[in-house]
Amino acid sequence: MAVAIRVLLFLLLLSASAEPTASAVAGPAVSAWEKWMDRLITCAVTCLVLAAWRGSGAKEPKETPLPAPVAEGTRAGWLMQDLEKFERLTKQQIGSDNPRFAETLDEALSFVRVLCVGMSAFDCSSRVVQHDTDSPVLVVQTNGKLFGDFATRSRIPFNVISDDEVTFQVQGSPPSGDCPFRCSCHAPCFGPASRSSKDGQPLGGAWAQVTVELDGQVLTLDAAAQVHARQVDLAQFPGKPIVYVPKNDVSSVPLRGAVAVLSEKFKPGTMSDGALLQGAYQAGADAVIKIGGGGAMLYSVPDPSEIPCFAISEDDGKKLCSALEVSRSAKVKELKVNDRRQKLQAERWNYGKVWLHFSGLYLQSVDWDGPLCEVAQEARASPEALVYEDYFEVYQTTREVDPRLGLDRSKLRRMMESAWSQLGRIGLTKNASMIGKLLALGAQRCKLKVNYMKFHPAESFTGTACAMLLSPHKSGFKQKPASDSLVQAWVAHEAVYLALMGHFTKLIDYMAPSLWNLIKCMNGEFFGWEADAGKIRKLFTACSGPVGPVPREVWQQRDPTWRITDERNAVGMVVRTQGRLLWSKDAANTAAPNSTTLPKCGATTTAPRRSMMDFMGRMAQKICCCSL
Ligand SMILES: [Zn+2]
Repeated sequence: MAVAIRVLLFLLLLSASAEPTASAVAGPAVSAWEKWMDRLITCAVTCLVLAAWRGSGAKEPKETPLPAPVAEGTRAGWLMQDLEKFERLTKQQIGSDNPRFAETLDEALSFVRVLCVGMSAFDCSSRVVQHDTDSPVLVVQTNGKLFGDFATRSRIPFNVISDDEVTFQVQGSPPSGDCPFRCSCHAPCFGPASRSSKDGQPLGGAWAQVTVELDGQVLTLDAAAQVHARQVDLAQFPGKPIVYVPKNDVSSVPLRGAVAVLSEKFKPGTMSDGALLQGAYQAGADAVIKIGGGGAMLYSVPDPSEIPCFAISEDDGKKLCSALEVSRSAKVKELKVNDRRQKLQAERWNYGKVWLHFSGLYLQSVDWDGPLCEVAQEARASPEALVYEDYFEVYQTTREVDPRLGLDRSKLRRMMESAWSQLGRIGLTKNASMIGKLLALGAQRCKLKVNYMKFHPAESFTGTACAMLLSPHKSGFKQKPASDSLVQAWVAHEAVYLALMGHFTKLIDYMAPSLWNLIKCMNGEFFGWEADAGKIRKLFTACSGPVGPVPREVWQQRDPTWRITDERNAVGMVVRTQGRLLWSKDAANTAAPNSTTLPKCGATTTAPRRSMMDFMGRMAQKICCCSL
């Protein structure tokens, strides 16, 4: 029966793609449009038949069951037993009859579970510790550090690193430390987007202010401070002259020692803010006041630069410009950055939330031993902060010659290659500032400690939302060119930029949905965003094994996570999902092996698909437009 159906489907597809026969040509004229419609309908019918044939599994993707705990009596078996004890004690301690709270708590415990299952594949020991009235702590000790590699096609520019000892604790009360609302390390991550009205106006006062003095008259403007590349003493600025730069032409006016007024309006669309600020810096300016870029909205300029930049709204810019036109003397009275995090704490840490605290767990940028930032810094041989265009040019000119950017060694390179054709289709591959931005964000060398995950019932969708607090980690590694703290703030404010630009949000959500969800998660505490906890859990779940046919490209064959993806049926519908994290004993194991070695994460590889089914699947995917 199945053979008969396959023959029928094959004939259907053949008829869909065949050229018209002589008799058809001799018949009434058929327009190209009609021919295509005919093919389209035939293919759509094929899809439906195939979907029906594959049964209900095509409609309801099955969640891959977590690997069964290792046999009792082994150390990993004890971990699963300790995990169950930990779950039971935690529920006894902080459980509630409120169903929404119970759901939230379950989600937090599920997150612990997926990490423990990943670690239980390695030699490990565990214990549950409970002091008096406190929540229990699950302690997992592994014999050495573990390294988690995300699936390349999820395009996450981080790896997960665990210490020899990792601890988990779930609490229903807020953390006791200063981060992120009272510390200095997270202060630059916040800004106008942290709390604003729907049209982007900051609520509860401005996060920064520019006060200028024009012929004795004082003008105070709300502003957003930029992510500074270095420590800046804002007390040095009072008295500095303010100079309007016509059409951003920094050579047209003397700028030495001045604060330059530049405008988004005159910046070419393909130029980064960093390049704009670099021009002013090289012309001798000490700071920049940048007008517009977000219409009436205020947002922080994320590109780290040599000189500080204060962004003001377009309306305030007009006010400032008309005042400067008639003024004989204009100077800075004050440049000020306000800390308005106190109010946010009460909003973000209110009742009903569940915190999962970690120790010994980190997110570390990819290509730790030879990141693009290092290659770019060497290529430019300049002590100045690099701009996005630098990253683009260095990447384009050295990726084929510098072994650090080789496809076998660089995860960032593989992620870019996996997205390159999609980026090309929308004309981005020639946009130096845009591609440079993507490259720069994945090119830094930073290690961030996972402090906690906060879970709560989502308001913007049905389900549980989560936010992850990452903290700069003193890794002892020489940072170049940035600090962990700066990189974190930089990523945060670029994320705001992406979120503000609706079409980029759609683009990134289409190209890298997991990445976009993780970005929302990593910045949830700063901006109040809600990430889908279920999707984040999937990302951190150990993969079960490669699926699908062996890719044609050699570098894809060598990439141990290339085929870590959901299993799809012949029409491209997901029939079985799996986690996205490949755990291994050390980083060296996930550098591309020199053969098509399969990942160690499981033995549930599927047999290669039949070529006809492949062909039909590809045909169907063209119609279904399924994303990764
Ligand atoms: Zn902090």
